[in-house]
Amino acid sequence: MTSPFRFEHSYQSLGDAFFERRDPEPAKHPHVVLFNQALAENLGLPSDAVPEEEWAKYLSGSILPPGSSPIAQAYAGHQFGGFTILGDGRAILLGEHITPDGRRVDIQLKGGGISRYSRRGDGRATLRAMLREYLISETIHHLGIPSTRSLAVTTTGLPVYRERVHEGAVLTRIAASHIRVGTFEYVKHMLDDTALHKLVSYTLHRHYPDIPEGPNPGLTLLDALMERQLDLIVHWMRVGFIHGVMNTDNMSMAGETIDYGPCAFMNAYRPGTVFSSIDTHGRYAYANQPPVAQWNLAVLAGTLLTQIDPKEETAIKRAQLLLNSFPERYLSKWQRMMNAKLGLTDLRPEDRSLVDDLLSWMESRSADYTQTFLALELDGKLSEMHPEDTQLQEWLVRWSNRMEAQPGGKEVSLESMRSVNPAFIPRNHLVEQALDQAEKGDLDPLNALLGKVANPYDRSWSTIDDTIVPPGHDDKYQTFCGT
Ligand code: AMP
Ligand code: MG
Repeated sequence: MTSPFRFEHSYQSLGDAFFERRDPEPAKHPHVVLFNQALAENLGLPSDAVPEEEWAKYLSGSILPPGSSPIAQAYAGHQFGGFTILGDGRAILLGEHITPDGRRVDIQLKGGGISRYSRRGDGRATLRAMLREYLISETIHHLGIPSTRSLAVTTTGLPVYRERVHEGAVLTRIAASHIRVGTFEYVKHMLDDTALHKLVSYTLHRHYPDIPEGPNPGLTLLDALMERQLDLIVHWMRVGFIHGVMNTDNMSMAGETIDYGPCAFMNAYRPGTVFSSIDTHGRYAYANQPPVAQWNLAVLAGTLLTQIDPKEETAIKRAQLLLNSFPERYLSKWQRMMNAKLGLTDLRPEDRSLVDDLLSWMESRSADYTQTFLALELDGKLSEMHPEDTQLQEWLVRWSNRMEAQPGGKEVSLESMRSVNPAFIPRNHLVEQALDQAEKGDLDPLNALLGKVANPYDRSWSTIDDTIVPPGHDDKYQTFCGT
């Protein structure tokens, strides 16, 4: 049988200092729990290309697929503001698979064993956390938001010791690459300018092939990533996604959502929402995501100064000028997005207060973010959900007048709203219930949820009432990192 994998290893051309050669740790009893058929086909890796038992061995790292050349990548990062040398402590990159249509994607085994970067960690991952990453990353992808993907979750038959004994598992992660802001921090601190120059060039070629390097590749890269991160964060804000751990090592240079740990979707609209158990100061709260992205980009800029100008003072000035454009660029993209959520197809000066007033109203009533926008599609629904609310009534009149003033009428508005407002997001209580059952061996609720998140804009089956969250649930809901 011929192998469906077509591996290349361009990242390794950057030099030995960028990674450690390391084979994954073989599993004891590899068993495929979830396999993403549609993604596999899309990547040119059809499930019947390899016998089933062999898939389990490939996907768990128990045998190496032909052509792979496993490595753990070196990186550093600012975690909650503090600098640390990190690296893949529990993930092994098999290589870059070239899809039949010529795309280059990393295939990585998360939970695949220790490396020289493991520090005190065991190199392993729990089944529960890997199923969670599979579910949420696929949700983000289907919401139309750039994301790493999940090809499979495979149990290893090895125990993982956390607050209790867990079943061990490996997530087969597909990414445009695993180059992070933290990769640049590593090179800046541990290597030299030649290595940094190579990394800038490599990243531009791999992720921004359409942007000419120009006379200043350092500045070009900073600007290119800023544009992608602005779009990414605006998408997160659109659907109420809270990444939860936006450390610089968790910011992809390709602009994809990466490293799904304590992430979750916000239900009641509260800008300060934080679910992560370790984020005690709310550094990565919903509303802090834009300024944190800017902060992370400033860290990137700090690593790129020698690439921007030989004179440090000039380099800082040029980087600062670019970084200072972040808030304005963000606000403009965010306003456009919020207008689309309200079915407004053009932009007018008064829209800022129209949006702000709705958000303040939602906050004061603890209204559900997703449900509120869905209800706006149905005449009278929001008023019915909030009877005798004069503040809401006044706002609805303003919104209605604003819509009448735009070309295209209601149908065009509805079309816009249906394309940006999800009808279904994986509610926290549903996620936890599905994971509880999956850990007991019943995958039906998880598969049902996966079916729903695959069509999050589909109004045909969903009703607003489907999205009701048990009262008080989120007040004590906590998510955990790296488990
Ligand atoms: P994360 O919080 O998942 O982004 O991980 C932060 C860092 O900790 C990365 O360098 C990971 O590779 C490392 N890490 C997380 N969990 C483990 C583990 N169980 N064993 C070894 N390293 C780990
Ligand atoms: Mg990480």
